[in-house]
Formats: sequence, structure tokens, C-alpha cells
Amino acid sequence: MRRRILPGILLILAGIVTAIGLLENQALPVSDRHGPDTGQTDRLLVLVNKDHALPEDYEVELHWLQNGSCAVAEEMYGALRAMLTDGSADGRAFVVASGYRDAGLQQQLLEEDIQTAMKNEGLTWQEAYEKETRETMPPGYSEHETGLAADIVSLGYQVLDAAQEDTEENRWLRENCSKYGFILRYPKQKEEITKVDYELWHFRYVGTAAAEEIMLRGITLEEYLLE
Ligand SMILES: [Zn+2]
Repeated sequence: MRRRILPGILLILAGIVTAIGLLENQALPVSDRHGPDTGQTDRLLVLVNKDHALPEDYEVELHWLQNGSCAVAEEMYGALRAMLTDGSADGRAFVVASGYRDAGLQQQLLEEDIQTAMKNEGLTWQEAYEKETRETMPPGYSEHETGLAADIVSLGYQVLDAAQEDTEENRWLRENCSKYGFILRYPKQKEEITKVDYELWHFRYVGTAAAEEIMLRGITLEEYLLE
């Protein structure tokens, strides 16, 4: 995953869009911005991990980001835009490195990682698979296929590794994401539960009520759903 960052995928919002975003912010408090609970909650809480495949009947309506770099689920787009607009107004500069992926792309990305690990580290296919699926899920098991996840990094540091934690952008996202309905999906010291290594760039949209509880209590989506 580390070398796979797409260059220069900027979410620079034009002045007019920023102005609209700010107007929206003033009109409604953040927690009310996404409207009342309309029975969409279950859908926003869809669990996709190593043990839970994407439901076969899952359908996603996509909304492309303004720069055309990637798409995300329609129901998350407004929250993502609001979060990044507010963060930008606060002096941060973000890059959305990855949003929705279909199963074919997920397969391709994983296969590339496996081949690289086999070549560079002399691993067997199975060893490389075990290693790489700590970060990149097999097709059908990636949250990116829901359209409700985004990898967000700092414009000034676009490498997907631990140093992302030291950027102002990542700090801001971790502090503020829940207000917009996002959680840090793969926290530190929860690897046994999520079965994914600490990934501080991967944010998942779950809606504000769930996000605020999950982030406040420092739990994972798995723990939240099991209770
Ligand atoms: Zn991700």
C-alpha cells in the first residue's frame, strides 16, 4: 500500500464551494448536518472485515470527488466534503488517496502487493498473502468496496506509513473526524480485533451518533456492533 499513493490528488475546493460549505456550517451544527436518522443507520454500520464479506446485495451509489480522483458513497460525500472543508479552513491540506474500489481493483492491488513481497522478500505466495492481507484485504472483504471508507493523508506527506501520525492533518482528523461521522477504523493496539495493522489514514463513515461513541470510548466498529 505504501508506494501506491496516487500523486497530487488534491481536494482543493474552489472558493465558491468553500463559501457554500461555510454557509452550510453556519446554518446547522455539525451533528445535525446529515439530517435525522432515516433508517439509513444500519446501512452505514455495514461490517466488512476479514470474517465478514461485503453483503451480496450491497449496492452503492457513487459520488465522484470534484477533482475526479476517486468516488465515495453518495451518503458519505457531504460529510467528507464538510470535514475537509472545515479542516482546510483551519489551515490543513488534505489528499484523498483512495475511496471506493470495486472487487476487480481490490484483487489487482492485492496481487501486486503479493508479487512485490514474493520478489523482494523471497516469500512463497501463501506467506506473501498472509503478510499483505494485514493491510490490503482480498476482494469482497475490503471496506473500500462499501464506498464508506477513505484513505486521507497530508498534502505535505503522502506516504501511507506511521509518520503520517505526526502530520497536522492526521492529528486534526483524529481529533475532529467523529463530529462528521467518521472513525479511525484501524486503531493502535486493536489489531487483534480488527485483524488489520494500525492504519491511521483509513477513515470510515458510520454516521455521527456511532462515530462519537466509538471515538470517545476508543473502541472499534467490531466492538461497537457486538454490544
Ligand atoms: Zn483504506
